[in-house]
Amino acid sequence: MLEMLSIDFMQRALLAALLVGTVAPMVGIFLVQRRLALIGDGMGHVALAGVAIGLVTNQAPVLAALVLAVAAAVLIELLRARGRTNGDVALAVIFYGGIAAGVVIISKAPDGTPANLMKYLFGSILTTQRSDLVVFAVLAAVIAVTTWLLRPRLFAVANDEEYARAVGLPVLPLNIVLAVLTATTVVVAMRVVGLLLISALMIVPNAAGQLVARSFSSGLRWAVAFGLVSAVGGVALSYPLNTPSGGTIVLLAVALFVVTSVVTGLTSRLGGHRHPVAERHDHEHGDTCGHPAVAHGDHVDYVHDGHRHAAHESHYDEHGHHGHHGADEPEQTTTGARP
Ligand SMILES: [Zn+2]
Ligand SMILES: [Zn+2]
Ligand SMILES: [Zn+2]
Ligand SMILES: [Zn+2]
Repeated sequence: MLEMLSIDFMQRALLAALLVGTVAPMVGIFLVQRRLALIGDGMGHVALAGVAIGLVTNQAPVLAALVLAVAAAVLIELLRARGRTNGDVALAVIFYGGIAAGVVIISKAPDGTPANLMKYLFGSILTTQRSDLVVFAVLAAVIAVTTWLLRPRLFAVANDEEYARAVGLPVLPLNIVLAVLTATTVVVAMRVVGLLLISALMIVPNAAGQLVARSFSSGLRWAVAFGLVSAVGGVALSYPLNTPSGGTIVLLAVALFVVTSVVTGLTSRLGGHRHPVAERHDHEHGDTCGHPAVAHGDHVDYVHDGHRHAAHESHYDEHGHHGHHGADEPEQTTTGARP
């Protein structure tokens, strides 16, 4: 296994996997939150048309894919902002138009063989060039920094658009930024994961992360960890197994998800119920937040979205009809069911 580290293209492939495994789940967490899990898939369709144009015109396919995917991303958000019903149909038209144009155009490329198409669709470790890697590294750094800096705002918008608008966040620009980040991630990932499977690497590690994490930030850390293991492990395995890197990466991510759900299922059965944490809670309650405060034993609950929330360490608990828990009770995933 270790000999692969001395192979030039494997070094590049592993480095690319490192980049992709980090940024794909970072962007994906907001897509999961916005319930747009499959939008990366659609962006992949559009990017394919860009790849095809790049191959036919002998321009850089990566650049062409980037330009087209980003343009489609902006267009989609503008259409979505104008109304939901037409927006969904417009999405489908753009995505199907993208893949159809990609397939037709690529058939006219000088080396437009099915194999050539396959490596963009399913990923191929052999195709990462040194010059591509530099571009990918720069793009990945931009994605990671932008996502990290805008994290609270993207979270607020993805979580509750109405609320974000009410507190004066620029909802449309933030949605456009997220769409552009998604499009860029798709292009960065296309050589390693492939355009058809990149959506999976944005979503599946987040699904696994949400099983173990109790808060948004720990969910993000877990998702990146799962993404890194899947991407680097998948590339490493695809070499001796002689399989497409994209499929291997995604199968590994799915396997991690399955193992995680079995393990978390077992620990919660052995250790009793977790106490009810307020899910996806981005709002900080306090005297001036405007939510009605209700005294509840030794602490204060806030009435929020029809629930009662109580501050508990770094998160908020649901304190509905299920009674009260003491403030000095240790927070453990293994504490027993509350009275
Ligand atoms: Zn509040
Ligand atoms: Zn709340
Ligand atoms: Zn708690
Ligand atoms: Zn309470």
